[in-house]
Amino acid sequence: MVKNKVVVVTGGTRGIGYEIVRLFKENGANVILFGSKEESVNKAQETLKKDGYEVDGFYPNLSSFEEVEITFKEIVKKYGRIDILINNAGISANKKIDDTTSKEFADIMDINVTAIFNTTKAVVPHMKENGGGVILNTSSMVSIYGQPAGVGYPSSKFAVNGLTKSLARELAPYNIRVNAVAPGVTNTDMIASLPKEQIEPLIKSIPLGRIGEPRDIANAFLFLASDMASYITGNILSVDGAARS
Ligand code: NAD
Repeated sequence: MVKNKVVVVTGGTRGIGYEIVRLFKENGANVILFGSKEESVNKAQETLKKDGYEVDGFYPNLSSFEEVEITFKEIVKKYGRIDILINNAGISANKKIDDTTSKEFADIMDINVTAIFNTTKAVVPHMKENGGGVILNTSSMVSIYGQPAGVGYPSSKFAVNGLTKSLARELAPYNIRVNAVAPGVTNTDMIASLPKEQIEPLIKSIPLGRIGEPRDIANAFLFLASDMASYITGNILSVDGAARS
């Protein structure tokens, strides 16, 4: 579905992003993964190599537009273009507002929102030059009703939906589609780090009766990236077993 496409995946070293990288490789794409550190990028590349998948890796500071821009220019120099950008890197929060500092709030907005602005701003000129492209963002089910703690996290995901819907309208004339996937509770390190009291009631309330697996989420990204979704833009696709928080 994405054969020979050039795809950049941020937060591709583990969890949902790693599964997206694997699935897109299985489907014949040229994938470039971004991570936060050299060690985690190397580790993901080694694991993928054992399964026969060669993947380039970078670790630009996503908060710096200049660093991201230089990295994308390097990728375009090597691959000729970028067809698909998947903005998946993200961090969560679970503290009550009394215990949350403004810096912690700003840090979440920085990686979950400003980083998407930076990567998107850096990729758009290349996509325009190439006659089009696909930009996919990772939102969350908490972007619908919020959550009872860690206010920065749902706030950031509401902003991801705003970026997605607005840029879909702005970039449609250039044949650039922009969509988001809103996962429910998914089996990754992000969830493992949350207290059981917070997670167990959530899982019990999922109508499909189970937690999501990274592959469930990656499948939605593959569909939205492919030409099967050629008339879909500005959409937030829930993949959450009907949980919706
Ligand atoms: P994870 O913690 O397993 O992976 C997060 C990824 O983001 C890693 O690859 C990490 O390198 C990258 N990252 C984190 N901070 C970074 C930084 N400062 N700079 C660059 N990269 C950074 O989490 P996950 O569960 O796979 O989450 C992936 C995305 O899915 C996130 O946007 C998250 O908000 C979203 N999401 C997750 C769930 C869930 O239940 N796991 C539910 C809804 C949405």
